[in-house]
Amino acid sequence: MVAGILFIVSAPSGAGKTSLVKALLARDPGLSLSVSCTTRTMRLGEQEGIHYHFLDQPRFRQAVDAGDFLEHAEVFGNLYGTRETDVRTCLEAGRDLILEIDWQGARQVRERFPAAVSIFVLPPSIAELERRLRGRGTDSDEVIARRMTQARDEMAHYAEYDYLVVNDRFDMALDALAAITTAERLRLERQRPHLAKLF
Ligand code: GDP
Ligand code: ADP
Ligand code: 5GP
Repeated sequence: MVAGILFIVSAPSGAGKTSLVKALLARDPGLSLSVSCTTRTMRLGEQEGIHYHFLDQPRFRQAVDAGDFLEHAEVFGNLYGTRETDVRTCLEAGRDLILEIDWQGARQVRERFPAAVSIFVLPPSIAELERRLRGRGTDSDEVIARRMTQARDEMAHYAEYDYLVVNDRFDMALDALAAITTAERLRLERQRPHLAKLF
């Protein structure tokens, strides 16, 4: 069995990474999405186990101490983490997996999985980023102000990624993401096991 490809997608909050990844998953049945753990409060419309595993601080800390996380980080004052067993089970089954995580988490994952493919999503402008955060209607003014301040910090890390996608027109950004997943699957070394049958 060939191991699945691990994709990391990061972006400042509001750039559209969740919408893009959702659309990519709908178009590509070969991709799975990792469900992170978080201590932040659930937004309207979010469901336990689908958008996140919602944990309180003590339970999150317990999981950290038990070594359950492949990576974890504090973002906007909340803790977020990816469970290692979820990732390994998926990749070992040969399924490609997307992690929607921040730049701190991306760094930790690259250390552990150097073959991971990382993609950074940028908004077309700072003004548009704020417009999208407000338009989403899920966060208070205070939370939006904090996310806007931190957006600049997150964006400063774009150069650590393998690919960059500017989410201006949604459909074009989605095509760009699909092109990246396709190209990565077509890499010679990933196809070598299948070629054995031919040569
Ligand atoms: P969004 O930015 O609107 O998608 O807001 P979220 O609250 O869903 O995510 C907040 C931040 O946490 C983003 O930067 C995510 O990339 C990051 N994040 C989400 N899940 C994880 C995770 O499992 N690990 C890490 N390190 N970061 C995560
Ligand atoms: P993130 O997960 O990066 O925080 P979301 O996917 O929640 O971002 O997108 C933030 C808001 O911007 C959502 O309301 C979404 O519908 C909207 N949005 C995403 N991409 C675009 C785009 N290309 N053009 C206009 N609005 C967009
Ligand atoms: P939100 O609270 O809006 O859902 O997410 C805010 C940020 O947290 C996003 O930028 C997202 O990428 C990041 N994030 C979500 N899950 C994880 C995770 O498991 N690990 C890390 N490091 N960051 C995460």
